[in-house]
Amino acid sequence: IFVSFEGSEGCGKSTQIRLLADRLKALGHQVILTREPGGTEIGEQLRHLLQFSKAGHAMASETELLLFAASRAQLVREVIAPALEAGAIVLADRFLDSTTVYQGVARKLDPAEVAAINRFAVGDTLPDITFVFDLDLAIARERMRHRPAPAGAPDRMESQPAAFFEAVRAGYLALARENTTRVRLLDAAGTVEDLSNRIWQELAPRLSP
Ligand code: C5P
Repeated sequence: IFVSFEGSEGCGKSTQIRLLADRLKALGHQVILTREPGGTEIGEQLRHLLQFSKAGHAMASETELLLFAASRAQLVREVIAPALEAGAIVLADRFLDSTTVYQGVARKLDPAEVAAINRFAVGDTLPDITFVFDLDLAIARERMRHRPAPAGAPDRMESQPAAFFEAVRAGYLALARENTTRVRLLDAAGTVEDLSNRIWQELAPRLSP
């Protein structure tokens, strides 16, 4: 089973992925965790390109889209598809919906073109279920303030104006409305325990014994 986790930064998805992975492993499941961009040697190099584009060398949105798609294409073929084939549970910290929302909605690239590139990049490897964490921007910001500051140069992906994050949130809400079979919208304002219980309720019936 292939599970992806989506939402704005500060929404708590990484914490939930960690908790879920521990729980599944304790039950004897084989679990593969992925994050993107990255997760393969090629993907990590692409991640580096995406994170640090030098001042005066602003990255075009089209370039950004293709780099995310390239990283994901590699991740699917090198890690995700083989893991699913071997019967593992794959937990993906972001997948193609991030591109629909960040590069499509927030960066305003043409939705049909973004969808076509997404499809080309992942082929038939689509999540069985996607959890979208929805959180008020003010709360997300407050959570982010308590994070340790990352070492080194500022991360270009995380220095965006508020309107960008509003667009991201609206994009995810629309995605959930349009994909009711695959996507589960979670109110991420609850406690860590509430959220992990909700995720478990959705997932447990789908797990093979
Ligand atoms: O929350 P996470 O650490 O996964 O987010 C990393 C950053 O990557 C976010 O700040 C987000 O803005 C950015 N991102 C993006 N396009 C994607 C995926 C992530 O701009 N397709």
